[in-house]
Amino acid sequence: MKQKTILPGQTIGILGGGQLGRMMAISAKQMGYRIAVLDPVKDCPCAQVADIAIVADYDDPEGAKKMAECADVVTYEFENVDVQTVDYLQENSYLPQGGHLLEITKDRLNEKAAICSAGLPVVPYMPVRNHDELKKAIAEIGFPSVLKTTQGGYDGKGQYVLKSETDLEEALPYVGKTPFELEKWLPFEKEISVIVVRSTTGETSVFPVAENIHRHNILHHTLVPARISDSLRDEATEHALHLAEALKLVGTLAVEMFVGTDGKVYVNETAPRPHNSGHFSINACETSQFEQHVRAICGLPLSSTQLLKPVIMINILGEHVQPVLDKIDLLTSAHLHLYGKDAAKTGRKMGHLTILGDTVDEAIEQAERLGIWKI
Ligand code: ADP
Ligand code: MG
Repeated sequence: MKQKTILPGQTIGILGGGQLGRMMAISAKQMGYRIAVLDPVKDCPCAQVADIAIVADYDDPEGAKKMAECADVVTYEFENVDVQTVDYLQENSYLPQGGHLLEITKDRLNEKAAICSAGLPVVPYMPVRNHDELKKAIAEIGFPSVLKTTQGGYDGKGQYVLKSETDLEEALPYVGKTPFELEKWLPFEKEISVIVVRSTTGETSVFPVAENIHRHNILHHTLVPARISDSLRDEATEHALHLAEALKLVGTLAVEMFVGTDGKVYVNETAPRPHNSGHFSINACETSQFEQHVRAICGLPLSSTQLLKPVIMINILGEHVQPVLDKIDLLTSAHLHLYGKDAAKTGRKMGHLTILGDTVDEAIEQAERLGIWKI
């Protein structure tokens, strides 16, 4: 595929209209681009800020055709893009990220294999595609472990934590019907992530290492700089850069990692797109992950990802919206981002709050003073 420079004034097409598409669009609009979004929901978060909204299912050939007609470059905000839509857009439009990374990252076993063949460490795992493989995997990996569906899981969905044989009962009916992998449970010190962006020109840039704290498997807050040693920070950054090269990345890759209690860094999973753990960059870095992504796919030079100040980014889930709005007059130094979603369901990502501090601890104190979260 011939590399092109897409200039402001031209149209960026986004497959998927959730919050990631919306924040991509906001960055792109700031730079003077026009936005077309394809999403099945008419008033989705991205459509609210886009110039053109194509309302169609992701696998609707008519929707893909409309996208090819109006976009000068196409990108995506989620990894489960329909294969035929991707193929069509590769043929009939400009999709510089290609489809190969989607193929790899949407299946945990493919992804793990790719991470391993890049020479990076992962926790021991085995495929579980039937009851025989389950037996073998349990014999090899044992307990505690975690059984994960290989496709379509997010925020811990499709995962079964196994402390003993009895925990298997819940998962057993699905074994053989849907592919799983069994992973050893890793005692970890920290969960961290690194976002790396590579442009169509081959230029690469990496964001500061983020420390992620999950509650009920959903990202609760992110702290930057991560509270780890400089050598672990370098190791994590190198892993992300190395993976970006190995996967011939174009666009954005978020690399989730564990720092084990053994002091080693393990790659857990990746996402081929801007990531929740990178939202801190909007207010705390010279360039946000969304602007960098737009630059990368448009063939513009990448910009500095320098951290301006230590930061905490806290997710606003459905149950937090009202408490945050009730305290809106206290948000003097907190940056509020809401995604324009209507139903504030419990656990649904509705927005986030970013608070800069002189140190991470000071940013945490500010967040706690709001009285909405126990950090
Ligand atoms: P997803 O985010 O796609 O739901 P993850 O693989 O990131 O799936 O798992 C969700 C969370 O479960 C992780 O953030 C981590 O807290 C925990 N987890 C997953 N795998 C392991 C493991 N092998 N050892 C310890 N904790 C794990
Ligand atoms: Mg994860």
